[in-house]
Amino acid sequence: MRGLVLYGLVLCLANSAWAQTPDTILLNGKIVTLDARSTIAPALAIDEGRITSVGSSDDIRKLAGPATRVIDLRGRTVIPGLIDSHLHAIRAALSFSTEVNWIGARSLEEALGRIRAASRTMKPGSWLIVAGGWNVQQFEENRRPTQAELTAVAPNNPVYVQLGYGWAMLNPLAHKALAISSEGDLPAGGRFERDANGALTGAVTGAQNAIVSLFDRLPKPTFAEQVDGTKAFFRELNRLAMTGAGDPGGNNLTATDYQALFKVWRDRAMTVRVTYTLNGQTPGKEFEELRDLTGLLPMGFGDDMLRFNGLGERITVAMNNNNAPSQADTEAYYRIVKWAAERGMSLTMHWGNDASVDHLLSIFERVNKEIPIAPLRWSIAHLNDASIESLRRMKALGVGWTMQDAMYFGGEQFVKQAGAEAARRTPPVETARKMGVVVGAGTDAHRVASYNPFTALQWLLDSKTVGGVVMRGPEEIPSRLDALRFYTLGSAWFSFDEDVRGSLEAGKLADLAVLSDDYTTIPVEKIGALESVLTMVGGKIVYAASPFSGLEKTP
Ligand SMILES: [Zn+2]
Repeated sequence: MRGLVLYGLVLCLANSAWAQTPDTILLNGKIVTLDARSTIAPALAIDEGRITSVGSSDDIRKLAGPATRVIDLRGRTVIPGLIDSHLHAIRAALSFSTEVNWIGARSLEEALGRIRAASRTMKPGSWLIVAGGWNVQQFEENRRPTQAELTAVAPNNPVYVQLGYGWAMLNPLAHKALAISSEGDLPAGGRFERDANGALTGAVTGAQNAIVSLFDRLPKPTFAEQVDGTKAFFRELNRLAMTGAGDPGGNNLTATDYQALFKVWRDRAMTVRVTYTLNGQTPGKEFEELRDLTGLLPMGFGDDMLRFNGLGERITVAMNNNNAPSQADTEAYYRIVKWAAERGMSLTMHWGNDASVDHLLSIFERVNKEIPIAPLRWSIAHLNDASIESLRRMKALGVGWTMQDAMYFGGEQFVKQAGAEAARRTPPVETARKMGVVVGAGTDAHRVASYNPFTALQWLLDSKTVGGVVMRGPEEIPSRLDALRFYTLGSAWFSFDEDVRGSLEAGKLADLAVLSDDYTTIPVEKIGALESVLTMVGGKIVYAASPFSGLEKTP
């Protein structure tokens, strides 16, 4: 009996000593905490994945024990890990190790060079696929590649280069491999592109669905490649200071496609926290599909690394990019989202234009009369030209806004269509913030945009398209810290996580990035080139570069 009591006492002492001694401390830095007072602190302590205290380097140093890992930041800036609230991460990850990436290439020559390099490192004859994430204005040459150029850099490989969802160039080997010899061989709605003289260019264009279906015909990476791709993509995101993503499903993504992610999760190899929502995929069958998929998947199921977060960004195919839905389309949609509300599900719905968003908001308002949706944190994605009236309705419903840097690639087109005056407030991020609408930042990568959060942060602050056109006026330019808040606390809100991540405060998860340069003071035009030199997820180092390379345990 006495022995037991003593044993208990020793355990208790050991426990309390353990709790007081951090496993890691960061000292001598410039830690942008994003707490309510915008505190910049020199140091913080971490224990068992969470931040235990934030303070001066002297105070934090005193907490260290003999086993504490001490990281001297040498004046570097630390930010909360970035969270993209609308990133097609699961899909991008599947093919990340087997695709050629044109993201950030400043010239077509550089981009073509990446295909040439891949043709040398990948297996002979393998497909070289650029799935998107680039546009013409990013290139000095300001044009798309020709078929001859693709053939010249990779004469022995089938090559496929997709631009957004409207155009894909295939070299002759790719046409042959897909058995496309006439327009009749293309998916419905697709056609061959012709130049001014009527000659075939080698590209396929036409309806978005045609390009989506064409992409589906490309060979899929093997399961092992998908797992490798997933880990490699998450590491790439870690390199860019990212520690979280909200995945909105999307085209070309079936239940089978989630298995690589699930394996990485089971293997405890996730280095980005993913919350995901599910889409209806089959026209007219969406309700059955979503009921089946979620029958054993309650809202919020999962853990800190991977969690189910409801429905969207597409609920029904009929309401997808539909500016004039019929009564039947609207009713079918209403039935599903009301059912989702009854089951406590969150939901995100993408919508292109403010002019027609009344169709969506009216449905949300109708559901809200029966079941209050504010606690469910529904959201609208995109809506770049959101009007004050729409934002007011969103605010009244408690609906958030996931906003992306679509104008970085699409700004020139927007100015052409809507005019410079409309562009001055597109997207109206400051108006939304001041009205109290929750704004989450992101990219919508990787088909239609780059996943680089620093590209998006720079664009938030200078409002320049990739081609250099300035759109938003100063009244819609956030402060640097508010832009960062959109990308951290703002994005965290959509998965009910703003109390556990998104800022660096005691009690929160230790998700953070040490930056290559000082985000708060460098010229705005340099923000796009920032990277992380040390990224932690739950206090674990998931990425390290010079001068911190030595801290990463290589497996
Ligand atoms: Zn999207």
